Amino acid sequence: MKTLNAGGKPLRYELERKKVKNINCRPKSDGIVYVSASPRVPVAEIERFLVEKADFFFGAFERLKDHEEKSEINTRSVNFLGKEYPVRIIQNSRETAVFDENECRVFTRLPEPENVLSLIKFAVSERFLQLCRELNAEVWEELKTHGLKPPPTQITIKDMKSRWGSCSYTRGHISINFRLAAYPRETVKAVFWHEYAHYWHHDHSKAFYDFLLKYYPDYFKWHEFLKE
Ligand SMILES: [Zn+2]
Repeated sequence: MKTLNAGGKPLRYELERKKVKNINCRPKSDGIVYVSASPRVPVAEIERFLVEKADFFFGAFERLKDHEEKSEINTRSVNFLGKEYPVRIIQNSRETAVFDENECRVFTRLPEPENVLSLIKFAVSERFLQLCRELNAEVWEELKTHGLKPPPTQITIKDMKSRWGSCSYTRGHISINFRLAAYPRETVKAVFWHEYAHYWHHDHSKAFYDFLLKYYPDYFKWHEFLKE
């Protein structure tokens, strides 16, 4: 990586020699311009071009960073169940993402933030759905040991604005907010208990909380947090 002086401001860039026409520039949210240029183009010419376009790049850095901050997830790391995982972007003809125990690998032809974010979200949703299915079975079994028999319940992961979860007790369906994927497993489990409790108590009455206190007192460790 090299740093240029662009009107008193540092402009960082990374050059890759490739068989491309002229000069290709891709500013990214890390504040670096990724340049690919034909081996025929001299460095001095590339640098002159970068300095000339510096204002455009500085503007792009701001916009890209802003975009990442507004998103629930960014393109550098994934927060899953309270743990941070690095993201690795691999330029590839496939459009997919794999999220394993160590990292999230994004395979894409087009490593633009918006595209990368949607691929990360896809991979995180898949893994989160898996976890939710596990928790669903776990809570269901715990209810059964108390002699309660909840109906068979389907799980959906959704983007929700103001709720962590919702329960449709007539259809046997619980929806879980995608944002919960970033929180510890126990938090997600508390949401499951909350939604399951609605099978017996449809509102948030005293009886509803008494039910949770009786069958899952751990719920109250997360209650304050979930109310916010
Ligand atoms: Zn509720």
